[in-house]
Amino acid sequence: MTQPKSTSSNPLQLYSLDSGEPRGALAAEPPLEPSEALLAELQRDSESLEKATPQEILKWAVDRFAPHFTMATAFGPEGMTIIHMLAEIAPQTPIFNLETGYQFAETLELRETVKKRYGIEVEYKYPETTVAQYEAANGGPVYKTDPNRCCFDRKLSVLHAAAKGWHAWASAIRRDQSPDRAKAPIVGWDRKFELVKISPLANWTKKEVWSLIAAEKIPYNPLHDQGYPSVGCQPCTRSVLAGEDERAGRWSGFQKTECGLHSS
Ligand code: SF4
Repeated sequence: MTQPKSTSSNPLQLYSLDSGEPRGALAAEPPLEPSEALLAELQRDSESLEKATPQEILKWAVDRFAPHFTMATAFGPEGMTIIHMLAEIAPQTPIFNLETGYQFAETLELRETVKKRYGIEVEYKYPETTVAQYEAANGGPVYKTDPNRCCFDRKLSVLHAAAKGWHAWASAIRRDQSPDRAKAPIVGWDRKFELVKISPLANWTKKEVWSLIAAEKIPYNPLHDQGYPSVGCQPCTRSVLAGEDERAGRWSGFQKTECGLHSS
């Protein structure tokens, strides 16, 4: 993904469909600094968007931050829902996936389905080493002994590099997914990655997500029909039993429920 320039002659400069004004006109040149004024503004924006629909939130995000607005996705049901909405609102939004080398074949296939259905080419962001190089350098799979380090090396460090230069990104989290996510604002400063994080589905329930997927025939990972409500890397994901927590199948056997992307 190439970082767009934001001069007026920039061919990537987008214009609001509603106002005709250049999108991102209010956004500063990179990097965006979390000044008191900006944080106060984001808080006001977040509060005013509490009752907005996810589509309205995404439209606001595009008007406010494009062409410095992006999205990372692991192709979960919520991510697919946002991709579907962005395909209608701003299909040129750059979207990327952290290709750890350990993802399920079904997940990689979904990237191809997105390309066919929406014409959106989700960009892979890779760690510095291949799986073979990484395991050879560490005497075997690191996920077996130290999943935190493996997630850091193959996800977090890649995401940190990928986030640089962008002003805002869309997050697919829902507040009812976990106590940690329950505190997420609609719009807020992402201290970990130093950009604005926008969560259009924060107020949605799992049922609302799946209702839209069914109504709009949004493509989704077939593993969700095989007992995997949450799909991450293949070695760290198992199917869950009826009544188990949605994320119980992630890093089963370890005191770990998040890869560190969404926790503060
Ligand atoms: S989810 Fe598992 S395999 Fe994937 S990066 Fe984290 S520890 Fe490694």
